[in-house]
Amino acid sequence: MARQKKDGRFINYYIDRGIYQRLERYAEDKSQQMTTALERILDDYLSHYEAERARTERYCPNCHILVRDTRCPRCDKKWLEEPKPNDYCFVTERDTLWAGLFEDALRQNAIPYLTENTLGAGLAAKIGTAVGSVRFYVRYAYYHQSKELEESLFLPEGSRIEEEFE
Ligand SMILES: [Zn+2]
Repeated sequence: MARQKKDGRFINYYIDRGIYQRLERYAEDKSQQMTTALERILDDYLSHYEAERARTERYCPNCHILVRDTRCPRCDKKWLEEPKPNDYCFVTERDTLWAGLFEDALRQNAIPYLTENTLGAGLAAKIGTAVGSVRFYVRYAYYHQSKELEESLFLPEGSRIEEEFE
């Protein structure tokens, strides 16, 4: 049976002669094909780079969200920078029933916040009540505290019981 064809790309870059010779030497030492050597070196280096990148929070000023990437997954903006203390960051979206609860918690902890109502107008008209949800934003300086508050308020039932036994 024929071996399945590799899904690959040809590359053709004019690279520094010294680096090329080091690569040749490396492949020889490891008894690897140049292609295999290149793939492993790049894979190893990029894995480190990606892990490092994922450790850093970055901020998209268009979407007001924190992401662990240099590019926004929502609007595709590139070269995102680390958040500044005053950047408003999206914390959570809660339906109107629970939004009040979260709002109280933020107030009690003196955390300034902004909200944005995302009322489903058509749906609200049909049901006749204010159905919709509220998006919460806080300055980055308060972001992690707000996330903790959110988790303490909206933890799934199971984990709340565990806490009671501690
Ligand atoms: Zn964005």
